[in-house]
Amino acid sequence: MAERSEFDHRPHERRRAGFRQKVGLAALGPPYETAVNLQSPIPNPQSPTTNPQSPTTNHQPPTTNHYPMHLDSIDLFHVAMPLISPWRTAYGEDAVAESVLVRMRSGEHEAWGESSPLAAPCYSAEWAGGVFACLRDWLAPALVGQWIESGEDLQRRLAHFKGNFFAKAALDNTWWVLAAKRRGVPLHRLLGATRDAVDVGADFGVLDSIDELIRGVGLALDDGFPRVKLKFRPGWDVSMLRAVRQEFPDATLHIDCNSFYRIRQLDMFCRLDDFGLAMIEQPLAHDDLIDHARLQAAIRTPICLDESIASVEQAEQAIDLGSCRWMNIKPGRVGGLTNAVAIHNLCREAKIGCWVGGMLESAVGARINTALAMLDNFIYPADIFPSSRFYHDDLGRPPLELSRGPRGQPQVVAADLPGIGAEPDAERLEKLCRQRASFESS
Ligand code: MG
Repeated sequence: MAERSEFDHRPHERRRAGFRQKVGLAALGPPYETAVNLQSPIPNPQSPTTNPQSPTTNHQPPTTNHYPMHLDSIDLFHVAMPLISPWRTAYGEDAVAESVLVRMRSGEHEAWGESSPLAAPCYSAEWAGGVFACLRDWLAPALVGQWIESGEDLQRRLAHFKGNFFAKAALDNTWWVLAAKRRGVPLHRLLGATRDAVDVGADFGVLDSIDELIRGVGLALDDGFPRVKLKFRPGWDVSMLRAVRQEFPDATLHIDCNSFYRIRQLDMFCRLDDFGLAMIEQPLAHDDLIDHARLQAAIRTPICLDESIASVEQAEQAIDLGSCRWMNIKPGRVGGLTNAVAIHNLCREAKIGCWVGGMLESAVGARINTALAMLDNFIYPADIFPSSRFYHDDLGRPPLELSRGPRGQPQVVAADLPGIGAEPDAERLEKLCRQRASFESS
């Protein structure tokens, strides 16, 4: 990564100070100053394995993002993909993964993309049926038949539609895959990546018992996973974490609260400092930045924001406020790859570490996440899973499989093919499709 001078950060620090005063955070005093005085992306002091992925080459600036394409047709598919077992989080249980796939054509080229917001509006305000309706009624008609010059151009054309980030991401992601295929390059190269593989972590939802969890964590660590993420919610919280930490005192652990708590639970979060966590992911409300800044000022453990960052602007505000020291970036949540790359770059400038998170995508969406994860400020193992983790028969072909890095750790490797090297199986798509819509340039 290129070195940056002190001078580079002064404008940002000045803006941060002004913003803090405006929202009254300056009054919080020294702990806040300590908490945001970051000199480098935050490695977990507990383990040397949390920053294993810095590229060996100097950072290359992203290639110019200008690939004009006429969008001849757009096809939308709302699918429901059966999971091997229900996925339990603070939001509830998902028995199927609902997702929206998009096929885009320009001339002789076609590409597939995906945006996976889950079945119910619980992770965010969006859900698969709503994303499909928004795409069908508004977003796809606004783009089909148009010349789209760049990812930014695509975002500008959709900007007057408020919110609906997962819906925008379905088109933005597919546009990028199409741009890569037209140029005959892998998507991660088009995004500016300088590496081809990235470490992945192990995740555990709420299980039937602590014993079952400890067995699973042990197997994951034995298998070389460099970090373990634990879902954390009332009833599956401090005592669960204590049991896991006692069993694995040196493991790199972090918890994901999925926005379940509020600042009134500050005392509990202060006690969590004793567990040596790499980070606490999204402890407070999904739309909050201010209380997260207050919490970050009061605890030593870094906060990672997930749900709270739905746009480039919110990422900038979170950095200015000191709301977090890490960001989990999911292309769907932020409106697609165009914004995901912009947030990644913003975090790199501010020395905020990033990692790529996932929803319940097919191998098509997982390949898009994989391409993004190759950028150089993704310095914590990603939430990218092999197809066999969730599906008996992944809709995407080929299914995603993990590889092994030089230390035997699980990794994903970006496809060395134009685009992402994956698309849905036609027969399976037919079977799993709930509704579809097609738009052609007139
Ligand atoms: Mg999360």
